[in-house]
Amino acid sequence: MDNFTFWNPTKLIFGKGQIGKLKSEISQYGKKVLVVYGGGSIKKNGLYDKVMNELKEMDAEVFEVSGVEPNPRVSTVRKGVGICKAEGIDFILAVGGGSVIDCTKAIAGGAKYDGDAWDMVANKAQVSEAVPFGTILTLAATGSEMNSGAVITNWETHEKLSWGSPHVFPKFSILDPENTYSVPRNQTIYGIVDMMSHVLEHYFHLEDNTIFQDRMCESLIVTIMETAPKLLEDLESYNERATILYSGTMALNGIINMGYRGDWATHNIEHAVSAVYDIPHGGGLAILFPNWMKHTLHVKPERFKQLAVRVFNVDPNGKTDEEVGLEGIECLRSFWDSIEAPSKLADYDIDDSKLEEMADKAAYNGAFGRFMKLEKEDVLSIYRASL
Ligand code: NAP
Ligand code: FE
Repeated sequence: MDNFTFWNPTKLIFGKGQIGKLKSEISQYGKKVLVVYGGGSIKKNGLYDKVMNELKEMDAEVFEVSGVEPNPRVSTVRKGVGICKAEGIDFILAVGGGSVIDCTKAIAGGAKYDGDAWDMVANKAQVSEAVPFGTILTLAATGSEMNSGAVITNWETHEKLSWGSPHVFPKFSILDPENTYSVPRNQTIYGIVDMMSHVLEHYFHLEDNTIFQDRMCESLIVTIMETAPKLLEDLESYNERATILYSGTMALNGIINMGYRGDWATHNIEHAVSAVYDIPHGGGLAILFPNWMKHTLHVKPERFKQLAVRVFNVDPNGKTDEEVGLEGIECLRSFWDSIEAPSKLADYDIDDSKLEEMADKAAYNGAFGRFMKLEKEDVLSIYRASL
């Protein structure tokens, strides 16, 4: 286990009716509030009105950025930064899924930075402060509600980059499972795949002695797999929505990965696909992750075997570690098939015409991934296996 310092300052406010805490959480920061949201789901399900009532009761002066895209774009970040700078915004409230929260993080950092927000996202400039912000999460998936990372797309250059700063942890996040009832079936599935992928990205590392961390990861995957089919039978079941919501946060808030660093190559490979074809992140991961696993199985087969035996109950008797590991990968594929997650790039009408372009984007910084360093050729081979 590596040395580590764990620090996560986000206050998590979980459960039914917790929106009532909004006023007291925000009022300590000031009255000028920028509300950031997406393409209108919060207007349809009534959450927008509830938020506005709360803000009215605290006499807030409200500004808005709406229409944040799934795979949020830097052009929208720039709009928000403009409002923050022009109006002297005291606090930003993100109401939405990972895209809205990521966009808000970039607005919060960009508002305290003199240059263009893209320079910050591309790590050409570091921010040393950010406008404080909080979130009301409406979709279980990314963990962005309790971490300091964001993924932003530049549609002009077709780049989708991960960015992070210790200054962009949300001050608080309100997670009410009922706010996720209206998430459509397909987005619910993408979210489930994304949170499982976050655990898997952690799980494949080369560090010794992560006994407890391994058990936490395995338990989280088993919990999600037990809950997902029940949730998909009844999208408005409180207990299942709550379990999935909590699992998504736990998968990427730093708690299960203390003392080691995971791989994260599959996220990189997926971001390159979304940057070119604008597909849903979780959909891309469902296609790519099993193929990344097959490609890297030889690196440390015993790790794949452990996953196969403990999570998928594969019988290891009389088999090599690689055989057991491969069975585990097939079980993951079958599980994702069973919840109707996509399994090949063709499901999004993606053919082999832009594989080179995507592989160049994935490897733009050279070889990447910690479990196995991937060169462009490795990425191409994973894409080809995913067609
Ligand atoms: P999302 O892109 O935020 O939302 C997807 C869709 O779901 C949108 O059309 C949205 O509609 C809709 N939606 C959200 N909440 C809803 C609700 N309660 N009812 C009905 N519809 C709802 O999805 P996401 O998976 O949470 O975020 C994906 C983004 O996060 C990607 O860009 C991905 O790369 C990034 N990501 C970030 C992290 C991180 O740690 N920061 C980790 C992994 C992935 P509206 O727009 O109308 O609201
Ligand atoms: Fe993700």
